[in-house]
Amino acid sequence: MKKLGWRASDTRELSFKECTVPEANLLGPRAEGFRQFLEILDGGRISVAAMGVGLAQGAYDLAFAYARERKQFGQPIAKFQAVQFKLADMATEIEAGRTMVYKAAWLKDQGRDFGLAAAQAKLYTGELSNRAVNWSLQIHGGYGYMDEYAISRLYRDQKILEIGEGTNEVQRMVIARHLGL
Ligand SMILES: Cc1cc2nc3c(=O)[nH]c(=O)nc-3n(C[C@H](O)[C@H](O)[C@H](O)COP(=O)(O)OP(=O)(O)OC[C@H]3O[C@@H](n4cnc5c(N)ncnc54)[C@H](O)[C@@H]3O)c2cc1C
Repeated sequence: MKKLGWRASDTRELSFKECTVPEANLLGPRAEGFRQFLEILDGGRISVAAMGVGLAQGAYDLAFAYARERKQFGQPIAKFQAVQFKLADMATEIEAGRTMVYKAAWLKDQGRDFGLAAAQAKLYTGELSNRAVNWSLQIHGGYGYMDEYAISRLYRDQKILEIGEGTNEVQRMVIARHLGL
């Protein structure tokens, strides 16, 4: 399938017709597949949240370097407060997102309940990476819209982080359930 982003990852339909799976090849107890699937999603959310932090950090690094290099009105655009504030917000949110990912991963490593922390980390970093690529591309101005600049790929790749391993809406449902609502 042709995609907006994540083009290095192949996506295609698989179909299984009259496919018999030998007992020895079952990945878990019979009839427990759905529960197992949900458990796997909990863990996967930490990985996708880590991708969100990494992607946001990449977008920040590109914007930081570009803002110091690009000159307008006789000075680097990094000297304009409007640009500084965007970079300051990005750095702050990335720090918060990274801490949330570490907390969820730590809880999982300790064998403690991590479902809530994983969903919160996934939701927060998905939305934070969206803001980060948007601000970073904005700081790049028109050049950011060109394929030649790495930020344009990060901008396209980001969106899937708010869809895969449960959409933002699904994370909110999971969080609400953990809160007892
Ligand atoms: C390239 C690619 C790779 C992917 N890789 C993975 C992966 O590795 N692992 C993984 O888990 N997922 C992955 N996904 C996501 C998965 O395939 C689905 O796209 C995702 O679970 C959403 O399901 P859907 O597309 O059927 O959307 P739908 O369920 O049709 O949802 C459409 C919209 O309605 C909203 N919605 C649906 N139901 C509700 C509800 N009850 N309340 C409120 N809002 C609702 C959704 O949040 C969404 O905004 C991937 C998707 C893509 C495109």
